[in-house]
Amino acid sequence: MRDLVIPAPALPTVPTSTGGRFPVRRVFCVSRNYAAHAREMGHDPDREPPFFFTKPADAVVVDDADTPYPTMTDRLEHEVELVVAIGTGGSDLAVDDALGHVWGYAVGLDLTRRDLQAEAKRLGRPWDTAKGFDASAPIGALTPAAGVDPTTGTIELRVNGDLRQSGDLADQIWSVAETIAELSRFVTLAPGDLLMTGTPEGVGVLDRGDVLDGTIAGVGSVRTRIV
Ligand code: MN
Repeated sequence: MRDLVIPAPALPTVPTSTGGRFPVRRVFCVSRNYAAHAREMGHDPDREPPFFFTKPADAVVVDDADTPYPTMTDRLEHEVELVVAIGTGGSDLAVDDALGHVWGYAVGLDLTRRDLQAEAKRLGRPWDTAKGFDASAPIGALTPAAGVDPTTGTIELRVNGDLRQSGDLADQIWSVAETIAELSRFVTLAPGDLLMTGTPEGVGVLDRGDVLDGTIAGVGSVRTRIV
């Protein structure tokens, strides 16, 4: 075997409630998976089903670390989301089998450069710079799947203690099982893949110094400060 010509990149990991670390392979995200959020963004959820985009694996911010305010934006926004961690992979998964591929669940933040996203939408361009920037995915500790019901539970985000987003996992357009099955038709899922499953209504602007607290009943929490 040939030597690596540069040092191998560090493996991003997410802490677990069991004291371990979950290695991150890829981060997939679902857009417009709650009808009320789709409407607040100017879309008709009855006419446009949810769809996928991605973030880099090393976009994760873990262990309650601070999140640097990103460059190249004047409108950073929060989206609190249920995160699914894939433990066993596969393709063309059946909806009825999909939850059996989940290692665990966490609370995450799909941070978004909303101004760049609006420009990308207007010009028909990709969302990568709007969604896939450095430190764009703060994620809390993973709770093993056996203790979680991903079909129901209050999902909330507070900024500096004020309630900004509130919804229920039951309001997802695609359930977690349906999302996994659908994604597995596009790519072969593999252990280490994370899936951010969309945000309820109430997205809004962030400033430096804001402290974000996301919670999902029965799943856990995430905290980060924008610096
Ligand atoms: Mn999102």
